[in-house]
Amino acid sequence: MTLRKTILSGMRPTGKLHLGNYVGALENWVALQQDYNNYHLIADYHVLTTDLDTSHITQDTVDMVIDWLAAGIDPLKSPMFRQSQVKQHTELHLIFSMLITTARLERNPAVKDQVRDLHIENMSYGHLGYPVLQAADILLYKGELVPVGEDQVPHVEISREIARHFNNQFGPVFPEPEPKLTPFARLPGLDGIDRKMSKSGGNTIFLSDSPEDIQKKLRTAVTDPQKVRKNDPGRPEICLVHTYHQKFNAPEAEDIETGCRSGALGCVECKKRIAERISACLTPFREKRAYFDAHPQEVFDILTDGEQRARSRAEHTMADVHAAMHLG
Ligand code: ATP
Ligand code: MG
Repeated sequence: MTLRKTILSGMRPTGKLHLGNYVGALENWVALQQDYNNYHLIADYHVLTTDLDTSHITQDTVDMVIDWLAAGIDPLKSPMFRQSQVKQHTELHLIFSMLITTARLERNPAVKDQVRDLHIENMSYGHLGYPVLQAADILLYKGELVPVGEDQVPHVEISREIARHFNNQFGPVFPEPEPKLTPFARLPGLDGIDRKMSKSGGNTIFLSDSPEDIQKKLRTAVTDPQKVRKNDPGRPEICLVHTYHQKFNAPEAEDIETGCRSGALGCVECKKRIAERISACLTPFREKRAYFDAHPQEVFDILTDGEQRARSRAEHTMADVHAAMHLG
């Protein structure tokens, strides 16, 4: 009998992870695995909503899982598994698709944002149903908490509605999952404080970047346009590099702020210092990554084990679902 709550969280396997993924999700997952039962989903079916070219999905999955492991996810504590390898996701998705109207899905603000950002003219049936598959992902494990950024809260709300509808119709099987907001929900990219660091934005520092890459990338980071020369006073509140200091160099952030405002500290030096801090923070990742790069079979073994454990939990849930629905 365990009193630990179950957490379900996942990512679409679209390749190497960046600092934004780390501070917004991964860092939190690592911390939460001490006190919760964490399940980590590799949402490979969800990739199909925006990309039907699956030729690189295996490599992208391996790259992402190595980043998870390098950041400190412990596969013994937290099973990691591919959605496509646990068939019950699609089964529960089908049942859930009967419990929600298309009008409700069309009102989902996240879908509206995607239509605008990705210039989608004709959305597929499966893409509109993205949050229904997500509800199945969470509820298959009876997930109670879902650690997400603010943008994902509307999706968790849809999962809650589906769970409630199911329980009212067929009897109490599912918890109503709650979002657990990540403490650092938005890290800016290298191209400006108003822009989110994102893979598709091309403004990232990857967790796998070398110290030289990190130095080079930070040199191009956009800072206060009014601080042209070293001695010009700067405005840290509009500088993304300062955000990085606050996150990765907290003990020195205040001094750096003072130096920037007075003009005593120039951008070149400020960027050099944060590049060193970020590189130092990623050093332990580098060692673990090197290990898994040299032992790729271990990554697949971890997935095979995670998939077995996920399947066993999924079978239990589906037995409850079938019993409640008088199926079979
Ligand atoms: P894409 O550009 O393809 O949407 P992405 O870089 O935004 O990719 P996702 O795969 O969408 O990355 O996000 C994975 C996880 O990382 C999510 O939990 C998301 O909330 C979090 N995340 C992504 N970017 C950031 C960021 N800049 N700051 C904080 N969290 C982030
Ligand atoms: Mg995104």
